[in-house]
Amino acid sequence: MSTSLKVKRILVTGGAGFLGSHLCDRLVSLGHDVICLDNFFTSQKSNVVHLLAKPNFELIRHDITHDIWLEVDEIYNLACPAAPGHYQYNPIKTMKTSVLGAINVLGMAKRCRAKVFQASTSEVYGDPTEHPQRETYRGNVNPIGPRACYDEGKRAAETLFFDYHRMNRVNIRVVRIFNTFGPRMHPFDGRVVSNFIRQALRHEDITLFGDGNQSRSFCYVDDLIDGFIRMMDAPDDLIGPVNLGNPGEVSMKQLAEMVIELTGSKSRVVHRPLPADDPSRRCPDITIARTRLNWEPRVALRDGLKKTIEYFRTLNFDDFRPPTPNF
Ligand code: NAD
Ligand code: UDP
Repeated sequence: MSTSLKVKRILVTGGAGFLGSHLCDRLVSLGHDVICLDNFFTSQKSNVVHLLAKPNFELIRHDITHDIWLEVDEIYNLACPAAPGHYQYNPIKTMKTSVLGAINVLGMAKRCRAKVFQASTSEVYGDPTEHPQRETYRGNVNPIGPRACYDEGKRAAETLFFDYHRMNRVNIRVVRIFNTFGPRMHPFDGRVVSNFIRQALRHEDITLFGDGNQSRSFCYVDDLIDGFIRMMDAPDDLIGPVNLGNPGEVSMKQLAEMVIELTGSKSRVVHRPLPADDPSRRCPDITIARTRLNWEPRVALRDGLKKTIEYFRTLNFDDFRPPTPNF
């Protein structure tokens, strides 16, 4: 730990999840006192088990829809199921997690005068009609479709963050995260990267939804976590929303081909129906992150996929219980 570091007490909600566990790793290694809060809906203790013996790490099993009294300097609010199959499993609970979770962390931030960070999402743009998506774009969300519990929940959470900022001077940071991947993704979360890698390693059919021409832009997890920390440490006038993601856009067909090549798999691609309201294109404009945070992704998709494939090779898939039947 650097001697000049100011040790902060930092709460990470959803801290045992894919992104949360990497964030906890980073904050613990920086020497901060980290409290990881999670109800383990879509994650497992194995993601943070290596941190349990550290004196500057605590783990709390708690559901963020219920309030909790903690004394902290900073809060990263990541608690929310993120994969479509997970958030559509119990959509009412998903909405409660975004809205009540935001109210609970904002209330805590107001009381403790803590800085509070919201993990928002590119899904606030819905199926975008503007491309690439800038933070000023107000989105094209179907408020009554199957993705609405997540999209509208995250939009309402952003509203709460900005109202607490305007009304109560809470120091907020809001980032809109675009598709991110890497080690510790749940192998049965149903997201495209985990599905394709799991299927390829088992030489099962690769399930390509629709014609496979829909696009996404994939950011490697280490890059994203750098962006989180830069945003939390940014000057107080930069409250967001700020897009964080990799502007390199690929089609799902290209992704399937890349995963098959990198795994040396014998899998064949099969087409399945496109889910309702599946966005046809998604790509971030990261000008604000570049200019204000001096941040941009460094890890190329192929390199990130190689690391993720290596991680998936170490897993015994039988150790994982699919959190929902929707994978
Ligand atoms: P994840 O499912 O791995 O992590 C979410 C974590 O939150 C899990 O550990 C889960 O158990 C926990 N959680 C869920 N509901 C909870 C509740 N009510 N109380 C306490 N804990 C709860 O997903 P992730 O990819 O790590 O996503 C983390 C955050 O980042 C989410 O808020 C998500 O919306 C956001 N995000 C992620 C991506 C991405 O590509 N990974 C993109 C956009 C936004
Ligand atoms: N997808 C796919 N096959 C799968 C899982 C997903 O073709 O087995 C597609 C999905 O229809 C979407 C894209 O991959 O167009 C990304 O899906 P994901 O669930 O990872 O995240 P989203 O960005 O849609 O929230």
